[in-house]
Amino acid sequence: MEKKLQELKMRLLEISDLNNASAVLNWDQTTYMPSGGAAARGRQMSTLARIAHEKFVDPAVGKLLDDLQSYADSLPYDHDDASLIRVTRRNYDQQTKVPSTLLAAFFQHSAESYQVWAKARPENDYTAVAPYLQKTVDYSRQIAECFPGYDHIADPLIDFSDQDMKAESVRALFAELRQALIPLVKSITAQTEVDDNCLHQPYPENKQLAFGQEVIKAYGYDFNRGRQDKTHHPYMTKFSLGDVRITTRVKENDLSEALFSTLHESGHAMYEQGIDMSYDGMPLGNGTSSGIHESQSRLWENQVGRSRVFWQHYYPQLQATFPEQLASVSLDTFYRAINKVQRSLIRTDADEVTYNLHVMIRFDLELALLEGSLSVADLPEAWHARYEQDLGLRAPDHRDGVLQDVHWYGGLVGGAFQGYTLGNIMSALFFDQALKAHPNIPTELGQGQFGTLHAWLQQNIYQHGSKFTANELIERVTGAPLTIQPYINYLHTKYGELYKL
Ligand code: ZN
Repeated sequence: MEKKLQELKMRLLEISDLNNASAVLNWDQTTYMPSGGAAARGRQMSTLARIAHEKFVDPAVGKLLDDLQSYADSLPYDHDDASLIRVTRRNYDQQTKVPSTLLAAFFQHSAESYQVWAKARPENDYTAVAPYLQKTVDYSRQIAECFPGYDHIADPLIDFSDQDMKAESVRALFAELRQALIPLVKSITAQTEVDDNCLHQPYPENKQLAFGQEVIKAYGYDFNRGRQDKTHHPYMTKFSLGDVRITTRVKENDLSEALFSTLHESGHAMYEQGIDMSYDGMPLGNGTSSGIHESQSRLWENQVGRSRVFWQHYYPQLQATFPEQLASVSLDTFYRAINKVQRSLIRTDADEVTYNLHVMIRFDLELALLEGSLSVADLPEAWHARYEQDLGLRAPDHRDGVLQDVHWYGGLVGGAFQGYTLGNIMSALFFDQALKAHPNIPTELGQGQFGTLHAWLQQNIYQHGSKFTANELIERVTGAPLTIQPYINYLHTKYGELYKL
């Protein structure tokens, strides 16, 4: 058994090396690569991805997993070896059930679709992408059908990124949340608009970056095992547990852009940096689901980084960094500006309160596309109708309507959006639980100290990597299944106070 386990680990490590090498290439492509490198780089990354995939779906891996099953069954569920075998088995089944010819055809299509979208969006040309989107819907259905026994055709696709979640359970959570959000948005937006001009002044880039880095160092992001660079779209990437990087983008006339994306990505990165080092290079050495991952980024961005206590400590420092811009702006004005709620058309610019409405719209529309109850031709109008209904707005064009997010044009239709809102819901759940365990956390945040909160997350979430599914993790931490109540309470308390509701 020991020899077989060693062989499995050797194979998995080799596959992880290939994937991480590809991640380095991707990081380089989005940070420093000259544009002339683009064509070869795309090919290099797809070569590495193909070899890694072939090595993983090798029947020899399946045989090793079969042989090791009785050993896994003899161990406690949360034993490292049992968990490694369980999680690898799940990944193996997932990747071998989809025929590699179908997968290859889909990736090829997806790359073309992305190219067409990248050109069509600035040109506001939905007709150009519609045939590609139709094919993507067809491929998404075909891939879902490789996993028979589902209740809803989207279930297998949702399961890829948020294991154990189903269309029905997500729909139920979202319906409950929507009921609470719509009246909240209404009563907030009925008031006079908050003035956030203080954020829109000239803020030199180097000072913005330095300030954000000071904050995340205090949070507990380890710069000896990470770094920050600039990209077009902020993200977190990992080459090993000893090298977890983040990127950001800076707008010199918008203080919130770089700052909050830095806090957000540091949350993703601290999660990965906190995983048990012995899982490095193994399937256990990754965050467990997109919802859990997003909960960690949102927690540090919002529950901490947009809280009043946090800024009671940091605002004087921010004022000292930008005296010309902020010396005469009060803490209260600044706090209101960074938490301004407004109806808007663009998901990625949306505030905490309206953000989830954007996600729900996409989630419902993609389910309808997969079910076949909505056609690709009718999608733009369905988009407008839902925006009018939920946010009272209609995009002037497709660019800021149905063409705004890359997800449907560079990946599957289905499964890519629910994680954002699940993450918001879970962030409040976990933060609540940390406060119950350590009621002194808010006092510490007000002193710029994050050690207790970071240690609680490390202990309860980070260290486990993928050992537990999201639902298991939530059960372990809270003793109950996922509930939206802490999130609703959080929004009502915070925005009730801010907008005197
Ligand atoms: Zn994120």
